[in-house]
Amino acid sequence: MDMLNHDNLQCIYRHASRTYPEECCGFVFADGTVHHGVNIQSELNRRQPDIHTRTGANGYTFSVADTLAMNRSFQSGNPATVIYHSHPDVGAYFSHEDENKALFMGKPAYPVAYLVVDVRAGHAKGAKFFQWNGKCFACVQEIHAGQENPAIPIRS
Ligand SMILES: [Zn+2]
Repeated sequence: MDMLNHDNLQCIYRHASRTYPEECCGFVFADGTVHHGVNIQSELNRRQPDIHTRTGANGYTFSVADTLAMNRSFQSGNPATVIYHSHPDVGAYFSHEDENKALFMGKPAYPVAYLVVDVRAGHAKGAKFFQWNGKCFACVQEIHAGQENPAIPIRS
């Protein structure tokens, strides 16, 4: 199926609402199924506030189990193709922090696209879809929740 569609977007939006006011994170496999990740950013912040200055309200870090599942998927026939996370009350954009996470020595760390969900007061308003263009992760589609959106094919 290789795409984001109405159903898996709703599944991601529900996740974003549920974790509000913290960011949610997860990924979408090539077959369209969604893996709801666990954001351990607040736990990292509690343990080492000097090193992990952000909390789950403005950052995300996948749990070890999530990271293992994602890395394993890249060796399988159903790899993760999209990593998603939410931005509570600040709008959907690819932040400097997001770029740092997505890049390794200036190149994409994972063979995936990124979806950033815009959550306001606990309600997902939409999302922006970012793909690597050879230089940076650029927004290639803006999605408005509650409207009919065309399915988004994911190039891999
Ligand atoms: Zn972000």
